[in-house]
Amino acid sequence: MRGSCLCGKVVFEINGELTIAQPDGRAQCCGLDSAELLVEKKDFVWLTSLRYVKTYQNQTDIGSLPYSRSFCTNCGTCLPVLIDGTDFYILQSHLVEHYDASEYVAAKKVS
Ligand SMILES: [Zn+2]
Repeated sequence: MRGSCLCGKVVFEINGELTIAQPDGRAQCCGLDSAELLVEKKDFVWLTSLRYVKTYQNQTDIGSLPYSRSFCTNCGTCLPVLIDGTDFYILQSHLVEHYDASEYVAAKKVS
């Protein structure tokens, strides 16, 4: 399946399984009512150049989740980002076309 930011400058593809990171949680970065999904690094590929992808390296663990944030520099959409020290990308479900929460029930912890 594919996903993209709002403006379409950044498009990515997921070839493997998606897992819900926080089944009942809202996305921490955009404040949207959107689950956070995990996908293995090997199953994730950017289809567009990274010219519009800006990654902020989170330097603090106070009051925020301990991973970096990526966003589109054109439209500001939060984009998938590799969780530091893991082989998983985390992304918001609303980025993914045809996302159906019922298909992804298993919660997985990343530590
Ligand atoms: Zn965009």
